[in-house]
Amino acid sequence: MTVERRIYAYRCRSCGTAHYPFRMRCRGCGNLEFFEFDAEPLPTAGTLLTFTHVHNLPAEYEVERLGLGVVELEGGMRVTGQIDIDRPELGMPVSGSVEVVRHEPYEDYWGLVFREG
Ligand SMILES: [Zn+2]
Repeated sequence: MTVERRIYAYRCRSCGTAHYPFRMRCRGCGNLEFFEFDAEPLPTAGTLLTFTHVHNLPAEYEVERLGLGVVELEGGMRVTGQIDIDRPELGMPVSGSVEVVRHEPYEDYWGLVFREG
């Protein structure tokens, strides 16, 4: 059985502003209390706003080049993630999943990967 991993946004109970990654202080109202945030799964569908490709990566990435993009998710939150798209175009619809993005000897690192669609 595989458990689908999700990445969570943190929504301020006072003003409703959602944050990703987690921040200790609300951008909307300055709320500082950890318990005043609710975790909720990020939407997976969004629009590609901008992207770049990084070459000459450290060996643990196991790829020649890495696409990085900024995606506006449904609901308006903007996140950064890897993109796995042959010919990315600004404004194209993408969907994200949580995957291992980097292997190191004793640990796998998970992150957001976006694909077309
Ligand atoms: Zn707030």
